[in-house]
Amino acid sequence: MTERRTRVRFAPSPTGPLHIGGVRTALYNYLFAKQQGGDFLLRIEDTDQGRFVPGAEDYIVQSLKWIGIEANEGIGFGDGPHAPYRQSERKPMYRQYAEQLLAEDLAYYAFDTPEELEQMRERLKASNVEAKYDAITRTTMKNSLTLPADETKRLIEGGFPYVIRIKLPRKEEVRFHDEIRGWVLVNTSQMDDKVLMKGDGMPTYHLANVVDDYLMQITHVIRGEEWLPSAPLHVLLYRYFGWEEVMPKFAHLPLLLKPEGSGKLSKRDGDKLGFPVFPLQWTDPASGEVSSGYRESGYYPEAVVNILALLGWHPSGNKEVFTMEELIAEFSIEKIAKSGAKFDLQKARWFNQHYLREMDNVALAKSAKPFMSGMECTNEYLAAVCGLAKEKITFINELPSYVPYFFTQEIKSYDDEVKKKRWKAFMPLFCVEMAASLHSLSDWTSTAIEASFNATLEKQNLQSKDVLQAFRWAISGVGGGPPVFEMAALLGKERVMSRLETAAEFEAVVFT
Ligand code: GLU
Repeated sequence: MTERRTRVRFAPSPTGPLHIGGVRTALYNYLFAKQQGGDFLLRIEDTDQGRFVPGAEDYIVQSLKWIGIEANEGIGFGDGPHAPYRQSERKPMYRQYAEQLLAEDLAYYAFDTPEELEQMRERLKASNVEAKYDAITRTTMKNSLTLPADETKRLIEGGFPYVIRIKLPRKEEVRFHDEIRGWVLVNTSQMDDKVLMKGDGMPTYHLANVVDDYLMQITHVIRGEEWLPSAPLHVLLYRYFGWEEVMPKFAHLPLLLKPEGSGKLSKRDGDKLGFPVFPLQWTDPASGEVSSGYRESGYYPEAVVNILALLGWHPSGNKEVFTMEELIAEFSIEKIAKSGAKFDLQKARWFNQHYLREMDNVALAKSAKPFMSGMECTNEYLAAVCGLAKEKITFINELPSYVPYFFTQEIKSYDDEVKKKRWKAFMPLFCVEMAASLHSLSDWTSTAIEASFNATLEKQNLQSKDVLQAFRWAISGVGGGPPVFEMAALLGKERVMSRLETAAEFEAVVFT
Protein backbone atom coordinates (compact mmCIF):
# COMPACT_ATOMS: atom_id res chain seq x y z
CA MET A 1 0.00 0.00 0.00
CA THR A 2 1.32 3.44 -0.82
CA GLU A 3 2.04 5.78 2.06
CA ARG A 4 -1.11 7.70 2.86
CA ARG A 5 -1.20 11.41 3.61
CA THR A 6 -1.67 11.93 7.35
CA ARG A 7 -5.20 13.03 8.10
CA VAL A 8 -6.58 13.47 11.60
CA ARG A 9 -9.81 14.82 12.89
CA PHE A 10 -11.22 16.44 15.95
CA ALA A 11 -14.79 15.21 16.23
CA PRO A 12 -16.60 16.80 19.17
CA SER A 13 -20.29 16.53 19.87
CA PRO A 14 -22.01 19.90 20.35
CA THR A 15 -23.41 19.00 23.75
CA GLY A 16 -22.06 21.97 25.70
CA PRO A 17 -18.91 24.03 26.09
CA LEU A 18 -15.71 22.32 25.05
CA HIS A 19 -13.82 21.13 28.13
CA ILE A 20 -10.16 22.06 28.34
CA GLY A 21 -9.39 18.32 27.96
CA GLY A 22 -11.15 18.46 24.60
CA VAL A 23 -9.00 21.41 23.62
CA ARG A 24 -5.94 19.32 24.47
CA THR A 25 -7.22 16.51 22.23
CA ALA A 26 -7.68 19.01 19.40
CA LEU A 27 -4.21 20.43 20.03
CA TYR A 28 -2.46 17.05 19.94
CA ASN A 29 -4.26 16.20 16.71
CA TYR A 30 -3.27 19.52 15.25
CA LEU A 31 0.39 19.27 16.30
CA PHE A 32 0.63 15.78 14.86
CA ALA A 33 -1.02 16.75 11.57
CA LYS A 34 1.19 19.79 11.09
CA GLN A 35 4.32 17.89 11.94
CA GLN A 36 3.48 15.20 9.42
CA GLY A 37 2.58 17.77 6.78
CA GLY A 38 -0.94 16.40 6.85
CA ASP A 39 -4.48 17.63 7.41
CA PHE A 40 -6.53 18.43 10.48
CA LEU A 41 -10.31 18.25 10.11
CA LEU A 42 -13.07 19.51 12.34
CA ARG A 43 -16.12 17.26 12.18
CA ILE A 44 -19.19 17.87 14.27
CA GLU A 45 -20.75 14.68 15.61
CA ASP A 46 -24.32 15.72 16.23
CA THR A 47 -26.24 12.51 15.62
CA ASP A 48 -27.57 12.50 19.16
CA GLN A 49 -30.03 15.30 18.62
CA GLY A 50 -31.43 14.94 22.12
CA ARG A 51 -28.15 16.22 23.54
CA PHE A 52 -27.71 19.08 21.09
CA VAL A 53 -27.01 22.42 22.80
CA PRO A 54 -27.44 25.62 20.81
CA GLY A 55 -24.28 27.66 20.55
CA ALA A 56 -21.97 24.75 21.39
CA GLU A 57 -20.76 24.30 17.82
CA ASP A 58 -19.81 27.93 17.43
CA TYR A 59 -18.15 27.80 20.83
CA ILE A 60 -15.98 24.89 19.66
CA VAL A 61 -14.91 26.74 16.52
CA GLN A 62 -14.16 29.96 18.42
CA SER A 63 -12.18 28.06 21.04
CA LEU A 64 -9.97 26.41 18.44
CA LYS A 65 -9.42 29.71 16.66
CA TRP A 66 -8.58 31.44 19.92
CA ILE A 67 -5.77 29.05 20.78
CA GLY A 68 -4.43 29.23 17.25
CA ILE A 69 -5.67 26.02 15.67
CA GLU A 70 -6.65 26.35 12.04
CA ALA A 71 -8.36 23.35 10.51
CA ASN A 72 -7.67 22.44 6.90
CA GLU A 73 -11.25 21.34 6.40
CA GLY A 74 -14.41 21.39 8.38
CA ILE A 75 -17.05 23.34 10.19
CA GLY A 76 -16.07 26.94 10.68
CA PHE A 77 -12.91 26.64 8.58
CA GLY A 78 -14.25 26.13 5.09
CA ASP A 79 -15.45 23.04 3.31
CA GLY A 80 -13.06 20.56 1.80
CA PRO A 81 -13.66 17.63 -0.53
CA HIS A 82 -15.57 15.67 2.12
CA ALA A 83 -18.30 18.18 2.94
CA PRO A 84 -20.62 18.25 4.71
CA TYR A 85 -18.72 17.93 7.99
CA ARG A 86 -21.74 17.97 10.26
CA GLN A 87 -23.02 14.42 10.71
CA SER A 88 -26.68 15.39 10.85
CA GLU A 89 -26.25 16.71 7.31
CA ARG A 90 -24.63 13.47 6.21
CA LYS A 91 -27.55 11.38 7.41
CA PRO A 92 -28.52 9.88 4.00
CA MET A 93 -24.98 8.56 3.51
CA TYR A 94 -25.04 6.13 6.41
CA ARG A 95 -28.01 3.94 5.47
CA GLN A 96 -26.19 2.00 2.75
CA TYR A 97 -23.52 0.94 5.24
CA ALA A 98 -26.07 -0.33 7.72
CA GLU A 99 -27.75 -2.17 4.86
CA GLN A 100 -24.49 -3.71 3.76
CA LEU A 101 -24.09 -5.22 7.22
CA LEU A 102 -27.73 -6.39 7.27
CA ALA A 103 -27.27 -8.10 3.90
CA GLU A 104 -24.15 -9.88 5.13
CA ASP A 105 -25.79 -11.05 8.37
CA LEU A 106 -23.46 -8.82 10.38
CA ALA A 107 -26.29 -6.69 11.72
CA TYR A 108 -29.96 -7.21 12.46
CA TYR A 109 -33.19 -5.36 13.11
CA ALA A 110 -34.38 -5.17 16.69
CA PHE A 111 -37.95 -4.25 17.60
CA ASP A 112 -37.83 -4.36 21.38
CA THR A 113 -39.76 -1.64 23.13
CA PRO A 114 -38.14 0.34 25.96
CA GLU A 115 -40.27 -1.68 28.40
CA GLU A 116 -39.10 -4.98 26.95
CA LEU A 117 -35.49 -3.85 27.21
CA GLU A 118 -36.06 -2.82 30.79
CA GLN A 119 -37.61 -6.20 31.60
CA MET A 120 -34.60 -7.92 30.08
CA ARG A 121 -32.26 -5.84 32.26
CA GLU A 122 -34.30 -6.59 35.37
CA ARG A 123 -34.37 -10.28 34.56
CA LEU A 124 -30.62 -10.48 34.09
CA LYS A 125 -29.92 -8.38 37.11
CA ALA A 126 -32.03 -10.73 39.20
CA SER A 127 -29.85 -13.63 38.12
CA ASN A 128 -26.67 -11.63 38.68
CA VAL A 129 -25.74 -11.50 35.03
CA GLU A 130 -24.48 -8.34 33.38
CA ALA A 131 -27.39 -6.86 31.45
CA LYS A 132 -26.23 -6.75 27.85
CA TYR A 133 -27.94 -7.20 24.52
CA ASP A 134 -25.50 -9.77 23.22
CA ALA A 135 -25.05 -13.10 21.46
CA ILE A 136 -26.93 -14.85 24.26
CA THR A 137 -29.66 -12.41 25.20
CA ARG A 138 -30.51 -11.53 21.63
CA THR A 139 -31.91 -15.04 21.18
CA THR A 140 -34.63 -14.19 23.70
CA MET A 141 -35.53 -10.78 22.28
CA LYS A 142 -37.69 -9.43 19.49
CA ASN A 143 -35.41 -9.08 16.49
CA SER A 144 -34.90 -10.25 12.94
CA LEU A 145 -32.81 -13.17 14.21
CA THR A 146 -35.64 -14.57 16.31
CA LEU A 147 -38.67 -13.56 14.24
CA PRO A 148 -39.68 -15.22 10.98
CA ALA A 149 -38.59 -13.23 7.92
CA ASP A 150 -42.13 -12.32 6.91
CA GLU A 151 -42.88 -11.01 10.39
CA THR A 152 -39.77 -8.80 10.28
CA LYS A 153 -40.87 -7.50 6.90
CA ARG A 154 -44.38 -6.86 8.17
CA LEU A 155 -43.12 -4.92 11.19
CA ILE A 156 -40.79 -2.75 9.14
CA GLU A 157 -43.39 -2.03 6.47
CA GLY A 158 -45.98 -1.38 9.14
CA GLY A 159 -43.79 1.34 10.59
CA PHE A 160 -43.05 -0.49 13.84
CA PRO A 161 -40.16 1.32 15.58
CA TYR A 162 -36.87 -0.49 15.20
CA VAL A 163 -33.12 -0.11 15.51
CA ILE A 164 -30.31 -1.85 13.67
CA ARG A 165 -27.83 -3.60 15.92
CA ILE A 166 -24.39 -4.96 15.14
CA LYS A 167 -24.21 -8.75 15.39
CA LEU A 168 -21.16 -9.60 17.43
CA PRO A 169 -19.57 -13.03 17.55
CA ARG A 170 -20.20 -14.75 20.86
CA LYS A 171 -16.64 -15.27 21.98
CA GLU A 172 -13.90 -13.84 19.92
CA GLU A 173 -10.83 -11.89 20.81
CA VAL A 174 -10.54 -8.42 19.33
CA ARG A 175 -6.98 -7.19 19.31
CA PHE A 176 -5.68 -3.85 18.24
CA HIS A 177 -2.62 -1.76 18.80
CA ASP A 178 -3.01 1.53 20.56
CA GLU A 179 -0.14 3.93 19.85
CA ILE A 180 -0.02 4.97 23.51
CA ARG A 181 -1.11 1.87 25.39
CA GLY A 182 0.26 -0.89 23.24
CA TRP A 183 -1.81 -3.98 22.51
CA VAL A 184 -5.39 -3.92 23.69
CA LEU A 185 -7.29 -7.21 23.90
CA VAL A 186 -11.01 -7.48 24.45
CA ASN A 187 -13.26 -10.48 24.11
CA THR A 188 -16.57 -9.96 22.34
CA SER A 189 -18.20 -11.77 25.27
CA GLN A 190 -17.53 -8.53 27.19
CA MET A 191 -19.20 -6.40 24.56
CA ASP A 192 -22.78 -5.83 23.50
CA ASP A 193 -24.63 -5.59 20.21
CA LYS A 194 -24.57 -1.82 20.03
CA VAL A 195 -27.22 0.05 18.10
CA LEU A 196 -25.79 1.30 14.81
CA MET A 197 -28.82 3.02 13.38
CA LYS A 198 -32.13 4.16 14.68
CA GLY A 199 -35.42 3.63 12.88
CA ASP A 200 -35.45 7.19 11.58
CA GLY A 201 -32.23 6.53 9.71
CA MET A 202 -30.08 8.52 12.12
CA PRO A 203 -26.86 6.61 12.78
CA THR A 204 -25.46 6.32 16.28
CA TYR A 205 -22.04 7.67 17.17
CA HIS A 206 -20.34 4.33 16.45
CA LEU A 207 -21.55 3.87 12.90
CA ALA A 208 -21.24 7.52 11.91
CA ASN A 209 -17.79 7.83 13.46
CA VAL A 210 -16.35 4.79 11.69
CA VAL A 211 -18.02 5.48 8.33
CA ASP A 212 -16.85 9.09 8.37
CA ASP A 213 -13.32 8.26 9.41
CA TYR A 214 -13.23 5.86 6.48
CA LEU A 215 -14.79 8.24 3.97
CA MET A 216 -12.67 11.16 5.14
CA GLN A 217 -9.54 9.01 4.84
CA ILE A 218 -8.51 9.48 8.42
CA THR A 219 -5.17 7.85 9.18
CA HIS A 220 -4.91 8.44 12.94
CA VAL A 221 -7.65 8.61 15.53
CA ILE A 222 -6.28 10.58 18.48
CA ARG A 223 -8.95 10.98 21.14
CA GLY A 224 -9.66 10.88 24.84
CA GLU A 225 -9.32 7.76 26.91
CA GLU A 226 -13.06 7.70 27.52
CA TRP A 227 -13.41 6.34 23.98
CA LEU A 228 -11.09 3.38 24.55
CA PRO A 229 -14.01 1.06 25.43
CA SER A 230 -15.60 1.89 22.07
CA ALA A 231 -12.47 1.10 20.10
CA PRO A 232 -12.93 -2.72 19.90
CA LEU A 233 -16.36 -2.18 18.40
CA HIS A 234 -14.89 0.25 15.89
CA VAL A 235 -12.17 -2.23 15.02
CA LEU A 236 -14.83 -4.89 14.40
CA LEU A 237 -16.77 -2.49 12.23
CA TYR A 238 -13.67 -1.91 10.07
CA ARG A 239 -13.39 -5.66 9.74
CA TYR A 240 -17.09 -6.12 8.92
CA PHE A 241 -16.95 -3.46 6.23
CA GLY A 242 -13.76 -4.92 4.78
CA TRP A 243 -11.79 -1.73 5.50
CA GLU A 244 -9.08 -3.21 7.67
CA GLU A 245 -6.38 -2.19 5.23
CA VAL A 246 -7.14 1.47 5.79
CA MET A 247 -8.12 1.31 9.42
CA PRO A 248 -6.68 4.36 11.21
CA LYS A 249 -4.13 3.97 13.97
CA PHE A 250 -5.59 4.60 17.39
CA ALA A 251 -4.11 6.72 20.17
CA HIS A 252 -6.17 7.18 23.32
CA LEU A 253 -4.97 10.12 25.37
CA PRO A 254 -4.65 9.91 29.16
CA LEU A 255 -7.24 11.73 31.22
CA LEU A 256 -6.75 15.21 32.58
CA LEU A 257 -6.94 14.77 36.33
CA LYS A 258 -7.92 17.09 39.12
CA PRO A 259 -5.02 18.90 40.84
CA GLU A 260 -5.44 16.91 44.05
CA GLY A 261 -6.82 13.48 44.70
CA SER A 262 -7.92 11.37 41.83
CA GLY A 263 -10.47 11.50 39.08
CA LYS A 264 -11.22 13.49 36.00
CA LEU A 265 -10.87 17.25 36.12
CA SER A 266 -14.35 18.67 36.42
CA LYS A 267 -15.98 22.05 36.40
CA ARG A 268 -16.52 21.66 40.12
CA ASP A 269 -12.75 21.34 40.73
CA GLY A 270 -12.20 24.49 38.73
CA ASP A 271 -14.86 26.40 40.64
CA LYS A 272 -13.47 25.20 43.96
CA LEU A 273 -9.85 26.04 43.25
CA GLY A 274 -10.50 29.11 41.17
CA PHE A 275 -9.47 28.21 37.65
CA PRO A 276 -11.51 27.75 34.50
CA VAL A 277 -12.04 24.40 32.86
CA PHE A 278 -13.34 25.94 29.65
CA PRO A 279 -11.31 27.87 27.11
CA LEU A 280 -13.84 30.69 26.71
CA GLN A 281 -16.57 31.96 28.95
CA TRP A 282 -19.78 30.03 28.44
CA THR A 283 -23.34 30.96 29.24
CA ASP A 284 -25.60 27.97 29.51
CA PRO A 285 -28.51 28.67 27.16
CA ALA A 286 -31.00 26.83 29.36
CA SER A 287 -30.06 27.95 32.88
CA GLY A 288 -28.21 31.18 32.07
CA GLU A 289 -25.38 29.98 34.33
CA VAL A 290 -22.06 31.55 33.38
CA SER A 291 -18.85 29.49 33.50
CA SER A 292 -15.51 31.23 33.39
CA GLY A 293 -13.10 30.83 30.51
CA TYR A 294 -9.32 30.98 30.22
CA ARG A 295 -9.61 33.89 27.82
CA GLU A 296 -11.77 35.99 30.12
CA SER A 297 -9.60 35.10 33.11
CA GLY A 298 -6.68 36.80 31.39
CA TYR A 299 -4.79 33.74 30.15
CA TYR A 300 -2.99 34.15 26.84
CA PRO A 301 -3.68 31.54 24.17
CA GLU A 302 0.06 30.89 23.87
CA ALA A 303 0.14 30.03 27.58
CA VAL A 304 -2.89 27.75 27.32
CA VAL A 305 -1.29 25.93 24.38
CA ASN A 306 1.89 25.48 26.37
CA ILE A 307 0.05 24.32 29.49
CA LEU A 308 -2.02 21.79 27.57
CA ALA A 309 0.87 20.53 25.48
CA LEU A 310 2.76 19.50 28.60
CA LEU A 311 -0.25 17.91 30.30
CA GLY A 312 0.35 14.40 29.09
CA TRP A 313 3.20 14.88 26.65
CA HIS A 314 6.82 14.95 27.78
CA PRO A 315 9.45 16.48 25.54
CA SER A 316 12.89 14.91 25.60
CA GLY A 317 14.85 17.74 27.26
CA ASN A 318 14.08 20.05 30.15
CA LYS A 319 12.69 22.80 28.00
CA GLU A 320 9.28 23.93 29.17
CA VAL A 321 8.40 26.98 27.16
CA PHE A 322 7.34 26.12 23.64
CA THR A 323 5.80 28.15 20.88
CA MET A 324 3.27 26.44 18.64
CA GLU A 325 5.96 26.13 15.96
CA GLU A 326 8.35 24.46 18.38
CA LEU A 327 5.66 22.09 19.56
CA ILE A 328 4.88 21.12 15.99
CA ALA A 329 8.55 20.35 15.45
CA GLU A 330 8.99 18.33 18.64
CA PHE A 331 5.66 16.62 19.18
CA SER A 332 5.52 12.85 19.06
CA ILE A 333 2.85 10.35 20.01
CA GLU A 334 5.48 8.06 21.59
CA LYS A 335 6.14 10.67 24.26
CA ILE A 336 2.54 10.84 25.40
CA ALA A 337 2.18 9.40 28.90
CA LYS A 338 -0.06 6.42 29.60
CA SER A 339 -1.18 7.65 32.99
CA GLY A 340 -3.41 10.61 33.66
CA ALA A 341 -1.97 14.11 33.81
CA LYS A 342 -2.70 16.17 36.91
CA PHE A 343 -3.68 19.73 36.28
CA ASP A 344 -1.16 22.00 38.01
CA LEU A 345 -2.61 25.40 38.77
CA GLN A 346 0.67 26.97 39.90
CA LYS A 347 2.36 25.84 36.73
CA ALA A 348 -0.49 27.18 34.63
CA ARG A 349 -0.13 30.57 36.30
CA TRP A 350 3.61 30.44 35.85
CA PHE A 351 3.23 29.91 32.11
CA ASN A 352 0.89 32.83 31.82
CA GLN A 353 3.20 35.07 33.78
CA HIS A 354 6.05 34.03 31.57
CA TYR A 355 4.19 34.95 28.40
CA LEU A 356 2.98 38.19 29.93
CA ARG A 357 6.51 39.29 30.77
CA GLU A 358 7.77 38.34 27.36
CA MET A 359 5.25 40.50 25.57
CA ASP A 360 6.17 43.97 24.43
CA ASN A 361 4.30 46.79 26.12
CA VAL A 362 2.20 47.74 23.13
CA ALA A 363 0.89 44.19 22.68
CA LEU A 364 0.36 43.94 26.39
CA ALA A 365 -1.68 47.15 26.39
CA LYS A 366 -3.80 45.75 23.60
CA SER A 367 -4.51 42.64 25.64
CA ALA A 368 -5.32 44.82 28.65
CA LYS A 369 -7.93 46.87 26.80
CA PRO A 370 -10.88 44.47 27.28
CA PHE A 371 -10.36 44.72 31.04
CA MET A 372 -10.17 48.51 31.20
CA SER A 373 -13.80 49.44 30.82
CA GLY A 374 -14.61 52.81 32.33
CA MET A 375 -10.95 53.77 32.50
CA GLU A 376 -10.02 56.28 29.86
CA CYS A 377 -6.42 56.49 28.77
CA THR A 378 -4.38 56.56 25.61
CA ASN A 379 -2.83 53.41 24.24
CA GLU A 380 0.62 54.85 24.78
CA TYR A 381 -0.08 55.58 28.40
CA LEU A 382 -1.54 52.12 28.92
CA ALA A 383 1.55 50.58 27.32
CA ALA A 384 3.76 52.53 29.71
CA VAL A 385 1.68 51.37 32.72
CA CYS A 386 1.96 47.79 31.45
CA GLY A 387 5.72 48.20 31.18
CA LEU A 388 5.93 49.23 34.83
CA ALA A 389 3.51 46.64 36.16
CA LYS A 390 4.34 43.56 34.14
CA GLU A 391 6.94 42.15 36.49
CA LYS A 392 4.40 42.01 39.26
CA ILE A 393 1.25 40.56 37.73
CA THR A 394 0.33 37.11 36.46
CA PHE A 395 -2.74 38.02 34.44
CA ILE A 396 -3.37 41.17 32.52
CA ASN A 397 -6.85 41.48 34.00
CA GLU A 398 -5.13 42.17 37.33
CA LEU A 399 -3.80 45.43 35.98
CA PRO A 400 -6.68 47.77 36.93
CA SER A 401 -6.79 46.46 40.49
CA TYR A 402 -3.02 46.20 40.87
CA VAL A 403 -2.32 49.80 39.85
CA PRO A 404 -5.70 51.58 40.09
CA TYR A 405 -4.00 54.88 40.91
CA PHE A 406 -2.70 55.11 37.35
CA PHE A 407 -6.22 55.38 36.05
CA THR A 408 -7.77 58.03 38.29
CA GLN A 409 -7.07 61.66 38.98
CA GLU A 410 -7.45 61.37 42.74
CA ILE A 411 -6.59 58.30 44.74
CA LYS A 412 -9.82 56.45 45.30
CA SER A 413 -8.76 54.46 48.31
CA TYR A 414 -5.80 54.58 50.65
CA ASP A 415 -4.45 51.50 52.38
CA ASP A 416 -4.84 52.32 56.07
CA GLU A 417 -2.44 49.63 57.17
CA VAL A 418 0.39 51.32 55.32
CA LYS A 419 -0.56 54.65 56.79
CA LYS A 420 -0.51 53.25 60.29
CA LYS A 421 2.96 51.86 59.79
CA ARG A 422 4.62 54.56 57.72
CA TRP A 423 2.96 57.91 58.10
CA LYS A 424 5.20 59.58 60.63
CA ALA A 425 4.77 63.08 62.08
CA PHE A 426 7.32 64.58 59.68
CA MET A 427 5.50 63.37 56.56
CA PRO A 428 3.03 66.25 56.07
CA LEU A 429 5.89 68.72 56.01
CA PHE A 430 7.94 66.45 53.80
CA CYS A 431 5.08 66.41 51.30
CA VAL A 432 4.84 70.19 51.28
CA GLU A 433 8.56 70.57 50.70
CA MET A 434 8.67 67.82 48.14
CA ALA A 435 5.82 69.43 46.22
CA ALA A 436 7.66 72.73 46.27
CA SER A 437 10.81 71.09 44.99
CA LEU A 438 8.94 69.28 42.23
CA HIS A 439 7.13 72.45 41.28
CA SER A 440 10.32 73.96 39.99
CA LEU A 441 11.30 70.87 38.01
CA SER A 442 11.36 71.55 34.30
CA ASP A 443 12.49 68.08 33.43
CA TRP A 444 9.87 65.54 34.59
CA THR A 445 11.86 62.34 34.60
CA SER A 446 12.35 59.66 37.20
CA THR A 447 15.97 60.75 37.66
CA ALA A 448 14.99 64.36 38.23
CA ILE A 449 12.22 63.34 40.64
CA GLU A 450 14.64 61.17 42.55
CA ALA A 451 17.10 64.07 42.79
CA SER A 452 14.31 66.28 44.16
CA PHE A 453 13.43 63.60 46.66
CA ASN A 454 17.03 63.32 47.86
CA ALA A 455 17.39 67.08 48.11
CA THR A 456 14.21 67.29 50.22
CA LEU A 457 15.45 64.51 52.47
CA GLU A 458 18.68 66.33 53.03
CA LYS A 459 16.96 69.59 53.74
CA GLN A 460 14.88 67.97 56.42
CA ASN A 461 17.60 65.79 57.70
CA LEU A 462 15.68 62.61 56.98
CA GLN A 463 16.72 59.17 55.80
CA SER A 464 15.37 57.63 52.64
CA LYS A 465 14.30 54.47 54.48
CA ASP A 466 12.04 56.54 56.75
CA VAL A 467 10.28 58.30 53.93
CA LEU A 468 10.28 56.27 50.77
CA GLN A 469 7.34 53.99 51.58
CA ALA A 470 5.27 56.87 52.92
CA PHE A 471 6.02 58.88 49.80
CA ARG A 472 4.88 55.99 47.65
CA TRP A 473 1.73 55.73 49.72
CA ALA A 474 1.09 59.47 49.40
CA ILE A 475 1.10 59.36 45.61
CA SER A 476 -0.48 55.92 45.08
CA GLY A 477 -2.47 55.03 48.18
CA VAL A 478 -0.75 51.64 48.50
CA GLY A 479 2.42 50.20 49.90
CA GLY A 480 3.92 48.33 46.98
CA GLY A 481 4.29 48.52 43.26
CA PRO A 482 6.69 49.44 40.50
CA PRO A 483 9.82 51.53 41.14
CA VAL A 484 8.50 54.62 42.86
CA PHE A 485 10.26 57.36 40.87
CA GLU A 486 9.31 55.76 37.59
CA MET A 487 5.79 55.52 38.87
CA ALA A 488 5.82 59.22 39.75
CA ALA A 489 7.24 60.10 36.35
CA LEU A 490 4.42 58.27 34.61
CA LEU A 491 1.71 59.69 36.86
CA GLY A 492 2.75 63.15 35.66
CA LYS A 493 3.58 66.34 37.44
CA GLU A 494 0.06 67.56 37.97
CA ARG A 495 -1.22 64.39 39.59
CA VAL A 496 1.82 63.92 41.81
CA MET A 497 1.67 67.52 43.00
CA SER A 498 -2.01 67.36 43.78
CA ARG A 499 -1.69 64.03 45.57
CA LEU A 500 1.17 65.39 47.66
CA GLU A 501 -0.97 68.38 48.55
CA THR A 502 -3.78 66.08 49.64
CA ALA A 503 -1.38 63.96 51.67
CA ALA A 504 0.10 67.02 53.37
CA GLU A 505 -3.26 67.41 55.08
CA PHE A 506 -3.18 63.91 56.51
CA GLU A 507 -2.37 63.80 60.14
CA ALA A 508 0.13 61.32 61.36
CA VAL A 509 -1.24 58.44 63.33
CA VAL A 510 -0.59 59.08 66.95
CA PHE A 511 -0.05 56.00 69.02
CA THR A 512 -1.31 56.38 72.54
N1 GLU B 1 -17.98 12.61 19.18
C1 GLU B 1 -17.01 12.07 20.07
C2 GLU B 1 -16.79 13.09 21.16
O1 GLU B 1 -17.69 13.83 21.44
C3 GLU B 1 -15.76 11.79 19.29
C4 GLU B 1 -14.93 10.67 19.77
C5 GLU B 1 -13.90 10.32 18.72
O2 GLU B 1 -13.02 11.16 18.50
O3 GLU B 1 -14.02 9.28 18.10
O4 GLU B 1 -15.77 13.23 21.77
